[in-house]
Amino acid sequence: MLLAMLITVTCTAPETYAQYHRELIEKLCAPKLHGRGYYKNGDWKAAAFIQKEFKKAGAFPINGQYFQDFTFPVNTFPGKVEVSLDQVKLQPGKDFIVNPGCPPVNGTFPIKRVTIPFDSNADCSMTFLHFDKMGLDSLSTAVMDSLMKNPPACAGLLITQREKTIWSVSTKVAPRPSVRIQIDSLQWQPSEIRIRVDSKFINDHKARNVAAYLPGTSNADSFIVFTAHYDHLGRMGPKALFAGANDNASGTAMIIDLARWFSKPENRPAKSILFIAFAGEEAGLIGSKFYTESPMVRLDRIRFLLNLDLMGNGDEGMMVVNGELHTKEFDMLDRINKEKGYLKILGKRGTAKNSDHYFFSEKGVPAFFFYTNGGSKAYHDVNDLPQQLPLTEFEDIKKLIVDFVGEVGR
Ligand SMILES: [Zn+2]
Repeated sequence: MLLAMLITVTCTAPETYAQYHRELIEKLCAPKLHGRGYYKNGDWKAAAFIQKEFKKAGAFPINGQYFQDFTFPVNTFPGKVEVSLDQVKLQPGKDFIVNPGCPPVNGTFPIKRVTIPFDSNADCSMTFLHFDKMGLDSLSTAVMDSLMKNPPACAGLLITQREKTIWSVSTKVAPRPSVRIQIDSLQWQPSEIRIRVDSKFINDHKARNVAAYLPGTSNADSFIVFTAHYDHLGRMGPKALFAGANDNASGTAMIIDLARWFSKPENRPAKSILFIAFAGEEAGLIGSKFYTESPMVRLDRIRFLLNLDLMGNGDEGMMVVNGELHTKEFDMLDRINKEKGYLKILGKRGTAKNSDHYFFSEKGVPAFFFYTNGGSKAYHDVNDLPQQLPLTEFEDIKKLIVDFVGEVGR
């Protein structure tokens, strides 16, 4: 194991590579790309950056096209997102999040704490209902959960929780605003909320997938495909940037890095290689679904697809979604991994609708989805930053992929 590692280390000059993929991740997370989401068209700007990198890496457009355009509805936060409780101003992203579907709101409201049993006759129409599950027994928690799902008419919800808050993207406007706070950020029972959210619903947000390819040396009609979504959550107002370093600047950097590697004549396999950076993943796998409905390269030409998401950790190994489905390819991967001593653990699981491989799998394209485990716990929050990423196994995963392509790409 050690010997194998020493040999590969001398061959691939890890310092330059490590620097290259780190730089890519930092550029994808830069404030000017606004979290590659729905603030000042951050995702569109990120697409332009990725296209340039594919081109620089030496990968070609498909029938003259690097882009595949589509639109979808999305709720956005271009203006102010402010919350004060009893005149104490909270930090957006750090102390609180609003629901991704939050409608515009501007006002001051009294807060009424929800207790069990709840008085359903009380008039709450101009009130924020406070749901606080701390200290409740399991029966009351269940009652409160169902009340939270189907709240009475009210101005909004305030939810305090023990777990860290996780933001996402909504393609709909919610019926009312809700504010979530991790309990450490709120040490008292608040009685009044001042809230301003200048959200804007966009019916036809313009987004684009970015694709590029490298022709195979002798079996060019058959493709190995690498996919990674490049979009993230954008900004919740100008002050809260969701940079998405692990999710998924890391996977995007990996496929650009792979394009650079495979573009060298000496590394080119017999089969062609297609790289696709998807948009709209966080809004519900929209970019990859669109691609499978109008593919730039026919789906039946794909020998195998590897989707890469959350590539930044790895000290607890890597999970292979669909590993239980494609046992021959999983065994191949597992054998290479053990022979070369790349990752500590290579886990496998069945199908899952949790990233961009899904719609390909559904259409019969053999595909794996790789994600790393361990390391940074940041996920869908403002702490998912490049400097938090250990990138423990980035090089090893790349080598594992290269070796795997050496076998399936013949
Ligand atoms: Zn995500």
